Amino acid sequence: MTRAVVVGAGIVGLTTGLALRRAGIEVVICERAPEIRAAGASLGLWANALAVLDGLGVGERVRRIGAWSEMYFHDSAGRLLNTPEFGPEDRRYLLVQRAGLNDLLADAVGRDTIRLATGFTAYEEHMDHVTVHLSDGSSEDTDVLVGADGTYSAVRAQLVPGTEAREHPGHHAWRAVVRAPGVTVPEDRVILGTHGCRGGYVRTHDGGVFWLVNQFNSPPLHGSPKQQAMERAVHLDEGGRDGTLAGLIATTPDELILHNQVNSVTVTRRRGTARSPARRSSAP
Ligand SMILES: Cc1cc2nc3c(=O)[nH]c(=O)nc-3n(C[C@H](O)[C@H](O)[C@H](O)COP(=O)(O)OP(=O)(O)OC[C@H]3O[C@@H](n4cnc5c(N)ncnc54)[C@H](O)[C@@H]3O)c2cc1C
Repeated sequence: MTRAVVVGAGIVGLTTGLALRRAGIEVVICERAPEIRAAGASLGLWANALAVLDGLGVGERVRRIGAWSEMYFHDSAGRLLNTPEFGPEDRRYLLVQRAGLNDLLADAVGRDTIRLATGFTAYEEHMDHVTVHLSDGSSEDTDVLVGADGTYSAVRAQLVPGTEAREHPGHHAWRAVVRAPGVTVPEDRVILGTHGCRGGYVRTHDGGVFWLVNQFNSPPLHGSPKQQAMERAVHLDEGGRDGTLAGLIATTPDELILHNQVNSVTVTRRRGTARSPARRSSAP
Protein backbone atom coordinates (compact mmCIF):
# COMPACT_ATOMS: atom_id res chain seq x y z
CA MET A 1 0.00 0.00 0.00
CA THR A 2 1.28 3.45 -0.89
CA ARG A 3 2.09 5.54 2.18
CA ALA A 4 2.06 9.32 2.58
CA VAL A 5 3.27 11.60 5.37
CA VAL A 6 1.53 14.96 5.51
CA VAL A 7 3.26 17.65 7.56
CA GLY A 8 0.78 20.06 9.20
CA ALA A 9 -2.79 19.54 10.37
CA GLY A 10 -4.22 22.85 9.19
CA ILE A 11 -6.99 23.13 6.60
CA VAL A 12 -4.67 22.07 3.78
CA GLY A 13 -3.01 19.14 5.59
CA LEU A 14 -6.30 17.73 6.90
CA THR A 15 -8.05 18.08 3.54
CA THR A 16 -5.10 16.52 1.72
CA GLY A 17 -4.95 13.70 4.27
CA LEU A 18 -8.65 13.00 3.76
CA ALA A 19 -8.26 12.98 -0.04
CA LEU A 20 -5.28 10.62 0.16
CA ARG A 21 -7.11 8.24 2.49
CA ARG A 22 -10.12 8.15 0.18
CA ALA A 23 -7.74 7.29 -2.67
CA GLY A 24 -6.65 4.22 -0.69
CA ILE A 25 -3.34 5.64 0.48
CA GLU A 26 -2.15 5.08 4.05
CA VAL A 27 -1.70 8.47 5.69
CA VAL A 28 0.14 9.83 8.72
CA ILE A 29 -0.35 13.52 9.51
CA CYS A 30 2.36 15.08 11.69
CA GLU A 31 1.33 18.22 13.55
CA ARG A 32 3.77 20.27 15.62
CA ALA A 33 1.11 21.68 17.97
CA PRO A 34 -0.19 19.58 20.89
CA GLU A 35 -3.78 19.88 19.60
CA ILE A 36 -5.75 20.56 16.43
CA ARG A 37 -6.24 24.30 16.36
CA ALA A 38 -6.68 27.07 13.86
CA ALA A 39 -5.08 30.50 13.85
CA GLY A 40 -7.52 33.18 12.80
CA ALA A 41 -11.23 33.74 13.10
CA SER A 42 -13.61 32.84 10.28
CA LEU A 43 -13.09 31.61 6.74
CA GLY A 44 -15.17 32.09 3.61
CA LEU A 45 -15.65 28.96 1.47
CA TRP A 46 -16.67 29.61 -2.12
CA ALA A 47 -18.14 27.16 -4.65
CA ASN A 48 -14.76 25.73 -5.68
CA ALA A 49 -13.79 24.87 -2.08
CA LEU A 50 -17.23 23.44 -1.33
CA ALA A 51 -17.03 21.26 -4.46
CA VAL A 52 -13.77 19.77 -3.13
CA LEU A 53 -15.35 19.14 0.28
CA ASP A 54 -18.39 17.56 -1.41
CA GLY A 55 -16.06 15.29 -3.37
CA LEU A 56 -14.49 14.22 -0.07
CA GLY A 57 -17.90 13.44 1.43
CA VAL A 58 -17.90 16.19 4.09
CA GLY A 59 -19.68 19.02 2.23
CA GLU A 60 -23.01 18.61 4.02
CA ARG A 61 -21.36 18.49 7.44
CA VAL A 62 -19.42 21.66 6.62
CA ARG A 63 -22.60 23.42 5.47
CA ARG A 64 -24.19 22.60 8.84
CA ILE A 65 -21.51 24.56 10.74
CA GLY A 66 -21.58 27.55 8.40
CA ALA A 67 -23.73 30.53 7.48
CA TRP A 68 -24.47 31.50 3.90
CA SER A 69 -23.63 34.99 2.83
CA GLU A 70 -23.25 36.97 -0.38
CA MET A 71 -20.40 39.29 -1.13
CA TYR A 72 -21.29 42.64 -2.64
CA PHE A 73 -18.76 45.43 -2.62
CA HIS A 74 -19.54 48.92 -1.33
CA ASP A 75 -17.41 52.05 -1.34
CA SER A 76 -16.64 54.02 1.80
CA ALA A 77 -19.68 56.25 1.21
CA GLY A 78 -21.94 53.16 1.32
CA ARG A 79 -22.58 53.05 -2.45
CA LEU A 80 -22.94 49.62 -4.03
CA LEU A 81 -20.15 49.08 -6.57
CA ASN A 82 -21.11 47.77 -9.98
CA THR A 83 -19.29 44.44 -10.54
CA PRO A 84 -21.00 42.80 -13.53
CA GLU A 85 -18.13 40.32 -13.92
CA PHE A 86 -19.45 38.48 -10.84
CA GLY A 87 -22.57 36.33 -11.27
CA PRO A 88 -24.86 35.25 -8.38
CA GLU A 89 -22.90 32.03 -7.81
CA ASP A 90 -19.62 33.97 -7.55
CA ARG A 91 -21.05 36.09 -4.75
CA ARG A 92 -22.41 33.27 -2.62
CA TYR A 93 -20.12 31.77 0.03
CA LEU A 94 -20.28 29.88 3.29
CA LEU A 95 -18.76 31.49 6.39
CA VAL A 96 -17.32 28.93 8.82
CA GLN A 97 -15.27 29.23 11.96
CA ARG A 98 -11.75 28.03 11.28
CA ALA A 99 -11.49 26.01 14.51
CA GLY A 100 -14.81 24.27 13.83
CA LEU A 101 -13.78 23.39 10.27
CA ASN A 102 -10.44 21.95 11.39
CA ASP A 103 -12.14 19.85 14.08
CA LEU A 104 -14.62 18.50 11.56
CA LEU A 105 -11.84 17.64 9.10
CA ALA A 106 -9.77 15.98 11.84
CA ASP A 107 -12.75 13.76 12.74
CA ALA A 108 -13.29 12.94 9.06
CA VAL A 109 -9.69 12.00 8.37
CA GLY A 110 -9.53 10.00 11.62
CA ARG A 111 -7.85 11.23 14.79
CA ASP A 112 -5.77 8.05 14.88
CA THR A 113 -3.95 9.16 11.71
CA ILE A 114 -2.75 12.39 13.34
CA ARG A 115 0.46 12.51 15.40
CA LEU A 116 0.17 15.62 17.60
CA ALA A 117 3.15 17.40 19.17
CA THR A 118 5.27 15.90 16.40
CA GLY A 119 7.08 18.49 14.30
CA PHE A 120 8.87 17.91 11.02
CA THR A 121 12.59 18.67 11.21
CA ALA A 122 14.08 17.35 7.95
CA TYR A 123 13.72 14.76 5.21
CA GLU A 124 16.10 12.51 3.29
CA GLU A 125 15.30 11.35 -0.21
CA HIS A 126 16.27 7.81 -1.24
CA MET A 127 15.82 6.09 -4.58
CA ASP A 128 12.47 4.50 -3.64
CA HIS A 129 11.29 6.32 -0.52
CA VAL A 130 11.63 9.38 1.70
CA THR A 131 12.64 9.33 5.36
CA VAL A 132 10.94 12.04 7.40
CA HIS A 133 12.68 13.08 10.63
CA LEU A 134 10.49 14.29 13.47
CA SER A 135 10.98 16.44 16.56
CA ASP A 136 10.55 13.56 19.03
CA GLY A 137 13.58 11.83 17.49
CA SER A 138 11.51 9.31 15.56
CA SER A 139 11.27 9.02 11.77
CA GLU A 140 8.72 7.83 9.22
CA ASP A 141 9.57 6.12 5.92
CA THR A 142 7.10 7.06 3.22
CA ASP A 143 6.47 7.01 -0.51
CA VAL A 144 5.16 10.57 -0.57
CA LEU A 145 5.87 13.60 1.62
CA VAL A 146 3.38 16.47 1.55
CA GLY A 147 4.41 19.81 3.05
CA ALA A 148 1.23 21.45 4.39
CA ASP A 149 3.00 23.28 7.21
CA GLY A 150 1.84 26.77 6.40
CA THR A 151 3.47 30.05 5.53
CA TYR A 152 6.73 29.26 7.33
CA SER A 153 6.91 25.73 5.91
CA ALA A 154 10.06 23.86 6.94
CA VAL A 155 9.37 21.29 4.20
CA ARG A 156 9.41 24.02 1.54
CA ALA A 157 12.53 25.57 3.09
CA GLN A 158 14.42 22.30 2.58
CA LEU A 159 12.90 21.50 -0.81
CA VAL A 160 13.30 24.96 -2.32
CA PRO A 161 15.86 26.94 -0.25
CA GLY A 162 15.51 30.71 -0.35
CA THR A 163 11.70 30.75 -0.38
CA GLU A 164 11.14 31.90 3.19
CA ALA A 165 7.99 33.90 3.93
CA ARG A 166 8.65 37.61 4.00
CA GLU A 167 6.66 40.46 5.43
CA HIS A 168 4.48 42.12 2.81
CA PRO A 169 5.52 45.61 3.89
CA GLY A 170 2.73 47.69 5.38
CA HIS A 171 0.06 44.99 4.88
CA HIS A 172 -1.89 44.28 8.05
CA ALA A 173 -5.17 42.61 9.05
CA TRP A 174 -7.32 42.98 12.17
CA ARG A 175 -10.27 40.67 12.80
CA ALA A 176 -12.52 39.11 15.42
CA VAL A 177 -15.64 37.05 15.89
CA VAL A 178 -18.03 38.72 18.34
CA ARG A 179 -20.50 36.30 19.91
CA ALA A 180 -23.06 38.81 21.24
CA PRO A 181 -22.31 41.96 19.28
CA GLY A 182 -24.72 44.36 21.02
CA VAL A 183 -24.87 46.22 17.68
CA THR A 184 -27.64 45.70 15.14
CA VAL A 185 -26.20 44.24 11.93
CA PRO A 186 -29.01 44.21 9.36
CA GLU A 187 -26.87 42.96 6.47
CA ASP A 188 -23.40 41.68 5.62
CA ARG A 189 -21.08 44.18 3.99
CA VAL A 190 -17.67 44.26 2.28
CA ILE A 191 -16.26 47.76 1.86
CA LEU A 192 -13.45 48.89 -0.43
CA GLY A 193 -12.42 52.06 1.34
CA THR A 194 -9.73 54.71 1.02
CA HIS A 195 -6.09 54.80 2.26
CA GLY A 196 -5.59 51.18 1.11
CA CYS A 197 -8.24 49.92 3.55
CA ARG A 198 -10.87 47.28 2.98
CA GLY A 199 -13.00 45.33 5.39
CA GLY A 200 -16.50 44.67 6.56
CA TYR A 201 -18.66 42.38 8.63
CA VAL A 202 -20.55 39.11 8.13
CA ARG A 203 -23.08 37.44 10.44
CA THR A 204 -22.19 33.95 11.62
CA HIS A 205 -24.58 30.98 11.85
CA ASP A 206 -24.88 31.27 15.64
CA GLY A 207 -25.90 34.92 15.98
CA GLY A 208 -22.40 36.39 16.15
CA VAL A 209 -20.58 38.65 13.71
CA PHE A 210 -17.17 38.33 12.06
CA TRP A 211 -15.50 41.65 11.27
CA LEU A 212 -12.32 42.32 9.32
CA VAL A 213 -10.19 45.37 8.60
CA ASN A 214 -7.28 45.15 6.23
CA GLN A 215 -4.79 47.79 5.06
CA PHE A 216 -2.10 47.95 2.37
CA ASN A 217 0.74 50.50 2.72
CA SER A 218 -0.13 51.13 6.35
CA PRO A 219 1.75 53.86 8.21
CA PRO A 220 3.69 52.63 11.29
CA LEU A 221 1.35 51.14 13.90
CA HIS A 222 0.64 52.86 17.23
CA GLY A 223 -1.63 51.96 20.12
CA SER A 224 -3.54 48.75 20.82
CA PRO A 225 -4.91 46.50 18.06
CA LYS A 226 -8.37 47.88 18.84
CA GLN A 227 -7.18 51.48 18.37
CA GLN A 228 -5.40 50.48 15.16
CA ALA A 229 -8.55 48.85 13.77
CA MET A 230 -10.70 51.82 14.81
CA GLU A 231 -8.37 54.27 13.04
CA ARG A 232 -8.73 52.27 9.81
CA ALA A 233 -12.50 51.80 10.12
CA VAL A 234 -12.78 55.56 9.53
CA HIS A 235 -11.51 54.98 5.97
CA LEU A 236 -14.32 52.47 5.42
CA ASP A 237 -17.12 54.76 6.54
CA GLU A 238 -16.75 58.19 4.96
CA GLY A 239 -18.43 60.82 7.10
CA GLY A 240 -19.33 58.25 9.78
CA ARG A 241 -22.73 57.54 8.14
CA ASP A 242 -22.93 53.84 8.94
CA GLY A 243 -21.15 53.30 12.23
CA THR A 244 -21.74 49.51 12.23
CA LEU A 245 -18.11 48.49 11.77
CA ALA A 246 -16.82 51.03 14.31
CA GLY A 247 -19.55 49.89 16.73
CA LEU A 248 -18.54 46.26 16.34
CA ILE A 249 -14.86 47.01 16.90
CA ALA A 250 -15.66 49.17 19.93
CA THR A 251 -17.67 46.41 21.60
CA THR A 252 -15.11 43.66 20.90
CA PRO A 253 -13.05 42.74 23.99
CA ASP A 254 -9.38 43.60 23.32
CA GLU A 255 -8.21 40.02 23.82
CA LEU A 256 -10.45 38.77 20.98
CA ILE A 257 -8.94 41.10 18.37
CA LEU A 258 -6.37 39.37 16.17
CA HIS A 259 -3.79 41.51 14.46
CA ASN A 260 -1.53 40.00 11.79
CA GLN A 261 1.26 41.34 9.68
CA VAL A 262 0.46 39.72 6.33
CA ASN A 263 3.37 37.78 4.81
CA SER A 264 3.96 36.52 1.33
CA VAL A 265 5.81 33.60 -0.20
CA THR A 266 7.31 33.86 -3.66
CA VAL A 267 5.91 31.16 -5.93
CA THR A 268 8.85 29.02 -6.96
CA ARG A 269 9.02 25.86 -9.00
CA ARG A 270 11.59 23.22 -8.25
CA ARG A 271 13.80 22.77 -11.25
CA GLY A 272 15.66 19.67 -12.39
CA THR A 273 15.42 16.13 -11.10
CA ALA A 274 15.17 15.15 -7.45
CA ARG A 275 18.47 14.75 -5.68
CA SER A 276 19.16 13.64 -2.14
CA PRO A 277 19.50 16.86 -0.18
CA ALA A 278 21.96 17.17 2.68
CA ARG A 279 20.49 16.66 6.15
CA ARG A 280 19.88 19.90 8.00
CA SER A 281 22.14 20.44 10.96
CA SER A 282 19.13 20.73 13.30
CA ALA A 283 18.00 17.21 12.47
CA PRO A 284 17.85 14.77 15.42
C1 LIG B 1 -6.69 37.83 6.97
C2 LIG B 1 -6.83 36.57 6.15
C3 LIG B 1 -8.10 36.18 5.70
C4 LIG B 1 -8.23 35.02 4.91
N1 LIG B 1 -9.49 34.67 4.49
C5 LIG B 1 -9.66 33.56 3.74
C6 LIG B 1 -10.97 33.16 3.30
O1 LIG B 1 -11.97 33.82 3.59
N2 LIG B 1 -11.08 32.03 2.54
C7 LIG B 1 -9.98 31.26 2.21
O2 LIG B 1 -10.16 30.24 1.53
N3 LIG B 1 -8.73 31.62 2.62
C8 LIG B 1 -8.54 32.74 3.37
N4 LIG B 1 -7.29 33.10 3.77
C9 LIG B 1 -6.16 32.20 3.42
C10 LIG B 1 -6.19 30.98 4.34
O3 LIG B 1 -6.23 31.43 5.69
C11 LIG B 1 -4.92 30.12 4.16
O4 LIG B 1 -4.79 29.78 2.80
C12 LIG B 1 -5.05 28.82 4.97
O5 LIG B 1 -5.27 29.09 6.34
C13 LIG B 1 -3.77 28.04 4.84
O6 LIG B 1 -3.96 26.80 5.53
P1 LIG B 1 -2.75 25.81 5.74
O7 LIG B 1 -3.33 24.53 6.25
O8 LIG B 1 -1.91 25.78 4.50
O9 LIG B 1 -1.82 26.51 6.81
P2 LIG B 1 -2.03 26.68 8.41
O10 LIG B 1 -3.46 26.90 8.75
O11 LIG B 1 -1.03 27.71 8.81
O12 LIG B 1 -1.62 25.26 8.99
C14 LIG B 1 -0.29 24.82 9.02
C15 LIG B 1 -0.20 23.77 10.12
O13 LIG B 1 1.12 23.23 10.07
C16 LIG B 1 1.62 23.15 11.39
N5 LIG B 1 3.10 23.19 11.31
C17 LIG B 1 3.89 24.25 11.05
N6 LIG B 1 5.19 23.88 11.04
C18 LIG B 1 5.21 22.56 11.30
C19 LIG B 1 6.26 21.59 11.41
N7 LIG B 1 7.57 21.92 11.27
N8 LIG B 1 5.93 20.31 11.69
C20 LIG B 1 4.62 19.93 11.84
N9 LIG B 1 3.59 20.81 11.74
C21 LIG B 1 3.88 22.10 11.47
C22 LIG B 1 1.02 24.32 12.12
O14 LIG B 1 1.01 24.12 13.54
C23 LIG B 1 -0.39 24.33 11.52
O15 LIG B 1 -1.29 23.51 12.24
C24 LIG B 1 -7.10 34.24 4.56
C25 LIG B 1 -5.84 34.62 5.03
C26 LIG B 1 -5.70 35.77 5.81
C27 LIG B 1 -4.32 36.18 6.30
